[in-house]
Amino acid sequence: MKNLLEVKNLKTFFHSEAGVNKAVNDVSFEIPKGKTVCIVGESGSGKSITSLSILRLIDHPGEIEGGEVILDGTDLLKLSDAQMRKVRGREISMIFQEPMTSLNPSYTVGYQIDEALGLHQKHLNKKQRFEKVVDSLDLVGIPDPREKYREFPFKLSGGQRQRVMIAIAMACEPKLLIADEPTTALDVTIQAQVLDLMKELQEKKGTSILFITHDLGVVYQIADEVVVMYKGHIVEKASAKELFHNPKHPYTKALLHSIPVPGVTPRKSKLDTVDEDVDYLSFPKEIR
Ligand code: ADP
Ligand code: MG
Repeated sequence: MKNLLEVKNLKTFFHSEAGVNKAVNDVSFEIPKGKTVCIVGESGSGKSITSLSILRLIDHPGEIEGGEVILDGTDLLKLSDAQMRKVRGREISMIFQEPMTSLNPSYTVGYQIDEALGLHQKHLNKKQRFEKVVDSLDLVGIPDPREKYREFPFKLSGGQRQRVMIAIAMACEPKLLIADEPTTALDVTIQAQVLDLMKELQEKKGTSILFITHDLGVVYQIADEVVVMYKGHIVEKASAKELFHNPKHPYTKALLHSIPVPGVTPRKSKLDTVDEDVDYLSFPKEIR
């Protein structure tokens, strides 16, 4: 099978007194094995809710109303809660935006990677786990990994904490890594390093990546395939090359004009913004 994950007609709605917010409204896309798919769109377009739905981490008042999330032939939406817990971390890992809130400040970074390993790779003994933790710190480019094992998160820089999060996410060798704006809080140089690191790990381990961002510059750097979301809908799906050189949907074109991408869009002194008065949903959807 070429695809690791197939999301079909996914619908996740939030119900309130004010009505129904169709945060994810009939979304379908695929993640090929060993490839990086980026979901791009403005804030509030439904990117995070799509990824949280894949992991079944939607809380009340949110509800997955329909669709299928097929991982290697299994519909995750049909699994029991206990089966789903095994999928999380073992087959799918997730990296969130803010590394300081995701790492526990009271435990050493080594302990936290060890904990992730212990949960999912039960065949390893303590000594083997220690070596694996040191290896994984080394792999994500943390200097002096044996010393850093014993450090608490606050002693590390933002870039190093994000690398530790990647080490934790990769420790159990997931088939799919979901990264939701993982580099947004980092400065540009560190961001580029973290993206390179993810690409490198992908090449070594064959991991598929679902990468979520509002930043087309990041998409340009990392994506094989791109899914463009707007108000809960997918408006365009294309290979990265196609999207940047031959965007089809008016919304994609507007996005590309609003954000400078080095080497693709011309430098401008003043940026356009996506026109809020245009109803981009009036154009044909899911152009491919
Ligand atoms: P993005 O990640 O693209 O910025 P989200 O997926 O977080 O956007 O949000 C999509 C929509 O779902 C937005 O309209 C947002 O207000 C709504 N939403 C997200 N989380 C909640 C929640 N806990 N309760 C109610 N509405 C929510
Ligand atoms: Mg989000």
